[in-house]
Amino acid sequence: MKTTVHEPARQTPVILDVDLCVLGGSCTGVFAAVRAARRGLRVALVEKQNRFGGVATCGLVCIWHNDLDDRYEEQIIGGLSLEMVDRLKRRDAVDVRERNPDARYVLNTEELTLELDELVRESGVTPFLHTYYCGASFREDGGVEAVFVENKDGRSAIRASVFVDATGDGDLAKDCRVPFSVRPDLQPPTTCAKIAGLEDLNMRAFYNEHREEFDVPKDAGWSCSIPNGAPVRVHAETHVFGANVADATQFTFAEMEGRRHIRAMMDMVRKHMPERRARLCLYDLSSSIGVRETRRFRAEHQLTETEVLHGVRFPDAIANGTYRVDIHYPEGGGHIFRYLDGREVSIRHNERKWSRWRPEGEDTALFYQIPYRSMVRRDCPNLIMAGRMIDADPGAYGAIRVMITMNQTGEAAGEAAALAQDGTPTWQIDPATLRERLSEGGSIMK
Ligand SMILES: Cc1cc2nc3c(=O)[nH]c(=O)nc-3n(C[C@H](O)[C@H](O)[C@H](O)COP(=O)(O)OP(=O)(O)OC[C@H]3O[C@@H](n4cnc5c(N)ncnc54)[C@H](O)[C@@H]3O)c2cc1C
Repeated sequence: MKTTVHEPARQTPVILDVDLCVLGGSCTGVFAAVRAARRGLRVALVEKQNRFGGVATCGLVCIWHNDLDDRYEEQIIGGLSLEMVDRLKRRDAVDVRERNPDARYVLNTEELTLELDELVRESGVTPFLHTYYCGASFREDGGVEAVFVENKDGRSAIRASVFVDATGDGDLAKDCRVPFSVRPDLQPPTTCAKIAGLEDLNMRAFYNEHREEFDVPKDAGWSCSIPNGAPVRVHAETHVFGANVADATQFTFAEMEGRRHIRAMMDMVRKHMPERRARLCLYDLSSSIGVRETRRFRAEHQLTETEVLHGVRFPDAIANGTYRVDIHYPEGGGHIFRYLDGREVSIRHNERKWSRWRPEGEDTALFYQIPYRSMVRRDCPNLIMAGRMIDADPGAYGAIRVMITMNQTGEAAGEAAALAQDGTPTWQIDPATLRERLSEGGSIMK
């Protein structure tokens, strides 16, 4: 039997010529597009799902972490993340928590979906929803000429002078042959759900007590209330261990397996706590499984855990953060957290073991930085990577992957794309000018 079929060559229509094309419409991608549009660029924004926001909206992940330094004293993050928080405040759609290492802003993710639509509309960006990036054509110098997208209209091309890959999985970067690896112990994906009737239940203990009966793995996750006292919580209780969701077969498996976990949760409550049945209600399932980690790409600089934990300063720093190094045990059951102040805790099946990764008494950093060099490569003259695909070792990645930090990489990508319009290769953008532009747009540069 033949293992391939011949697909006839074809001419693909160019549906749009723009200055910047952003692939992936999480806040990272939207913020890249909006920053560039505010500089006057003609921008296309391509998202495969039915809404913008990525894991925050399609995945129901409702927590943005700290925008202050590690002592909760100085503002270290501003820009579009805080603009969005202000917009959500006006809609009673955000809770602000003080001095809380687990959450600073708790968002109503449905309202976030609506606000992202507004932001995109106001900015003049040309949006494409339900549109999948699926290939690229290249210039002689190795730059991207155009990207191919598919949607209800079929296959078409968008031509641009600069491209931002904010797909998380680095679908364009992969086609640009940027070297990447997929770690054997990936941080696993999770299906989140909004559920009523579990508010006062220690779900972790209950789940693990009954999990064998429902054939689900031992696990440990979290849940969170949503703003304005709504009678539901967001539950991110389980993980699909070992799944690399940048692989189509595993992605399909993970979606169904993650939902099977939610079904098991609901059924174990129905069976073992029948008195809750009158109030128990599954309100919402994430429309796409929440992805923590897939391909890891190499850029001009790989950010390391040591640089993060010691708060190394970079002349081309484009983002600040404080979120702890957070590594999910790949086999499940908990995390290791390493804090900037030197503490370390291993949490495994409700057991906490505290230690220190650095001796008491040494100076500690109050925040860390991400250099622009972790987003670009000299062999990809018009590509910028943004979001969770940027170059970081596993420990650094465990810290910087959170949204309030990734959002800043999007903003930097948008500003850098504007600076690259004169033909400057993206990796040669002047870092001082980039930082100035970021400040002008409300970002905090330290
Ligand atoms: C269960 C869970 C809990 C988490 N908890 C927190 C938390 O509490 N706080 C926090 O800040 N972070 C949390 N994270 C991490 C955080 O959500 C992610 O690291 C972050 O969303 C990464 O942002 P991103 O923009 O790089 O990627 P994503 O949010 O994954 O966005 C990528 C976007 O690209 C689109 N896309 C992908 N491929 C294509 C394509 N080929 N064509 C077109 N579009 C494409 C996707 O649909 C998506 O919209 C959590 C993650 C998970 C899974």
